[in-house]
Amino acid sequence: MGQLHVFFFPLMAHGHMIPTLDMAKLFASRGVKPTIITTPLNAPFFTKTIDRNKNLGIEISLIVIKFPVVEAGLPEGCENADQLHSDELVVKFLKATAILQEPLKHVLQQGRPNCLVADMLFPWATDVAAKFGIPRLVFHGTSFFALCAWESMRLYKPHNKVSSDSEPFIVPHLPHEIKLTRMQVTPHEREAYADHYRKVLGRKAWHIGPVSLCNKEVEDKAQRGKETSIDEHQCLKWLDSKEPNSVLYVCFGSIANLTAAQLYEMAVGLEASGQQFIWVVRKGENEEENENWLPEGYEERMKGKGLIIRGWAPQVLILDHEAVGGFVTHCGWNSTLEGVSAGVVMVTWPVFAEQFYNEKLVTEILRIGIGVGAQENTTRVASGIKREAIEKAVKRIMVGEEAEEMRSRARAFKDAAKKAVEEGGSSYSDLNALIEELSSYHP
Ligand code: UDP
Repeated sequence: MGQLHVFFFPLMAHGHMIPTLDMAKLFASRGVKPTIITTPLNAPFFTKTIDRNKNLGIEISLIVIKFPVVEAGLPEGCENADQLHSDELVVKFLKATAILQEPLKHVLQQGRPNCLVADMLFPWATDVAAKFGIPRLVFHGTSFFALCAWESMRLYKPHNKVSSDSEPFIVPHLPHEIKLTRMQVTPHEREAYADHYRKVLGRKAWHIGPVSLCNKEVEDKAQRGKETSIDEHQCLKWLDSKEPNSVLYVCFGSIANLTAAQLYEMAVGLEASGQQFIWVVRKGENEEENENWLPEGYEERMKGKGLIIRGWAPQVLILDHEAVGGFVTHCGWNSTLEGVSAGVVMVTWPVFAEQFYNEKLVTEILRIGIGVGAQENTTRVASGIKREAIEKAVKRIMVGEEAEEMRSRARAFKDAAKKAVEEGGSSYSDLNALIEELSSYHP
């Protein structure tokens, strides 16, 4: 039997491209030949890691297809979801991705892979792959928990049975009693969720993560997504000087933004909490406005205590450092899983997409986090959380008995995550089962 060849086609967003690269590495480590499809301006995010892996004897190929920026009416150079600063741009971006059907057809015809793993936001990829008799897998990039909650909402529409946006309803037929409000679900719309998804909802699925755990060396952990805005060794040196579990890491992923007023509240809230922190502030569209949010003399006062990274941080490297004990997260699924894998306790602050579901998983089911009180799913922009709420939630996860209890649960999940991806673990075995099944279609 020849070598299996799998094509991966992620959405052009860091939260989708980063785990795809990890998956490609994992597949390659099991003898499968991986090829990633992307667009010209996203290619550089892959090439450095691909080159590094090549030197280690791991071959990952890259196919670059043109992104129809002009046809879709997008501004020139707009090829990644982190550039979509308005709803109008989001619509145009998704329209542009749909035009990728034609180049995908061509790529599949030429390459004839044994399987196409395409993003959940590319539903049309199934038909394109079927034309060539190629099985297509959907890469969701989110949790079984969120998928089960999503499906329950779609089937039973509990949000239509309450009389106001703030009245809580139960998400029906889940193993746990999960309450949400209409404001927390998308505008359009652990222990048992992988089984629930497969057995109760009847879906075929493979869990192969946390995929970020395939990164073992400093360089692998530091080099994910964009070029980091801080030298990783400088960052490690800063962390090395701190006590275990004494630093809080604050980051909202690659897409969410905070209003200037919210950044100000965050700054004051973090200072009031008395905790040491690394805070990642994404470079926004308006650099100048981005600077006006800091209270007078803030960075001077915080010297040695609080480190602000403007731009892109080596997140996994930071989370995995023993000095880091807490994580203020927007509950993007990659960040959530990376937090679980690092055994940190979280302050959950969901912003958009399925992040409100992920918050419930962290705070109510895994019980390794405290919600900051986010109320509304707001397509990418976080606002409205007061300094007192930030201070209180941060203190609750960093100090005291409750924090210790959460930390010991978080440690157990960290160990379980590590075991899952080790030889013989559940994710390791599921990836084997997937590869075996794909091989059985392969003459
Ligand atoms: N990330 C990072 N440095 C940053 C911001 C984000 O390395 O400064 C990585 C993070 O580790 C995660 C991904 O970007 O792997 C973000 O994905 P997630 O699903 O958490 O959120 P999204 O960006 O899709 O909202």
